[in-house]
Amino acid sequence: MGPNSEALEGSTFKPLWLDQPARPARLPALAGSASCELLIVGGGFTGLWAALQAKERRPDLDIILVEGTEVGDGASGRNGGFLSSSLAHGAHNTDFHFPGEQDTLYDLGRQNMGEFMASLERYGIDARYEGTGEIEINTRPDQDEGMAEWVEEERADGYDLVWLDREEMQAEVHSPTYWGGLWDREGHDGLVDPAYLCWGLKKAIQDLGVRIFEGTPMRGFDRQGDGMAIECPSGSIRAQKVLLATNAFRNPVRSARRRVIPVWDYVIATEPLTPDQMKSIGWERRQGLGNNANMFHYYRLTHDNRIVWGGGMNVVYYYGNRTQGSVGDSRKYFERNASDFFHTFPQLSGVRFSHRWSGLIASTTRFCMSPGVAYDGRVAWSVGYTGQGVGASRFGARVGLELLGYDPTEILDLQFVRRQAMGWPPEPLRWAAVTLTRKEMARADRNKGRRSLWLKTLDRLGLGFAC
Ligand SMILES: Cc1cc2nc3c(=O)[nH]c(=O)nc-3n(C[C@H](O)[C@H](O)[C@H](O)COP(=O)(O)OP(=O)(O)OC[C@H]3O[C@@H](n4cnc5c(N)ncnc54)[C@H](O)[C@@H]3O)c2cc1C
Repeated sequence: MGPNSEALEGSTFKPLWLDQPARPARLPALAGSASCELLIVGGGFTGLWAALQAKERRPDLDIILVEGTEVGDGASGRNGGFLSSSLAHGAHNTDFHFPGEQDTLYDLGRQNMGEFMASLERYGIDARYEGTGEIEINTRPDQDEGMAEWVEEERADGYDLVWLDREEMQAEVHSPTYWGGLWDREGHDGLVDPAYLCWGLKKAIQDLGVRIFEGTPMRGFDRQGDGMAIECPSGSIRAQKVLLATNAFRNPVRSARRRVIPVWDYVIATEPLTPDQMKSIGWERRQGLGNNANMFHYYRLTHDNRIVWGGGMNVVYYYGNRTQGSVGDSRKYFERNASDFFHTFPQLSGVRFSHRWSGLIASTTRFCMSPGVAYDGRVAWSVGYTGQGVGASRFGARVGLELLGYDPTEILDLQFVRRQAMGWPPEPLRWAAVTLTRKEMARADRNKGRRSLWLKTLDRLGLGFAC
């Protein structure tokens, strides 16, 4: 047994976030028949924010939310908790996919984040928010070239960015692998405890009168009169409108299904670090961290000083859109995470991991949400946040509601909303293309970022991930 598997020995296969005493009891499943004006399918951030915003827009709206397992059991209770105001996965990806709309999307992202924070305040939601900003860390000297000058220019334009050279970066967080870092302190960007956010939203919408049924998967739906008839194993629902907040999970609408693939991400969390261990890594300002790479790791501290560590090469697509099964507990990916963790923080050798888990990232070919509407405006969806949905899902919920006709605004005119992501190819091409792209991205990381012919071709087709 190697040191990485030893460090994982005895770890619990469960998201750290969901393994906390504050976890609320599961609500009863639907029993029999029910009716409502708006049915929301999915109890992650999108579904919860949709219910909250719908109640704020129309306090009398009769809403049911059904969740297949329990609130927060999808990506929303399994993520890194990095909160970003970006709606389209960062500035570069926004520029690349939405030329001409960057400024509007930037403003809408800031507005969304302001309202996000105001809602936490209004409903007394303790999401354990820390306004730390995020550092993108260079791990190769060539990545530092021109950075100091570029940051100066950005700062002159009013952006709250800080360039940390090798010495400054290593003083901030102690790792021999660091060459420099770009600390983004814009707006409210920082960290949350994702489960606390889910549970706080759940309570807020219950208090506003939303009926929630957990353990209630929607099996299918069809038109009925001027509304929709929804089938669940334990009953049926008649609704005027349906919002699908199902993200990486199977979407009942075929045209939406083609645009999202489920990608597994493997995460580990340490035991709480001792004061000496904390001292050995510095990190006093507790920023969210990630390395500057295509296949990047993201990592952060928790309220009780554990380190949550995910990403890297441990982001995997399985043939046929697999969303269940033993692949979720893959030793190989957890051990690779542990190995990269100890490479970054050799001084933490001997630390053990208390939790390991995996979650599904809903990925689109444009690497951000792809909303849509069907059934003559009765069914809408907002899905596909591709690894950056903690903040963006609140906006996705708004888009979904407006597509259903709940007080639409000018955001529906944006290409970002009107134009859906290009669909993924069918299998076996899908698996082959995604697997090849993942390998080529890793190769580019090893090769000073140089993109292969395959990646350049994807770029030309407008399918490149420009992060
Ligand atoms: C490991 C990991 C790390 C991540 N880290 C970050 C991060 O640090 N920052 C960031 O911004 N984003 C991150 N993300 C992405 C972010 O978590 C998601 O974009 C966000 O949670 C999406 O929320 P959602 O409500 O749309 O989807 P989910 O949270 O996946 O919710 C969908 C829900 O729908 C339910 N459901 C599905 N089908 C049905 C059905 N037929 N009937 C009833 N219920 C159904 C599911 O059970 C699930 O609970 C990460 C994702 C993962 C997996």
